[in-house]
Amino acid sequence: MDKKEFNDITLVCKDCGEEFVWTAGEQAFYHEKGFTNPPARCPEHRAKRKARQNNRFYKNER
Ligand SMILES: [Zn+2]
Repeated sequence: MDKKEFNDITLVCKDCGEEFVWTAGEQAFYHEKGFTNPPARCPEHRAKRKARQNNRFYKNER
């Protein structure tokens, strides 16, 4: 098993246009999961988007 090295990368959020750091740890997590694309949003907006999706799912159930 080869060990991949990651460095923190600064990305720009698609929603707010703010820069955020995609940490080496997160990159390793993405790599492990097999995700090929970097996150398009900052952690804050990713969480908000996820909350919205959960909310919609919850409403559909009702
Ligand atoms: Zn954002």
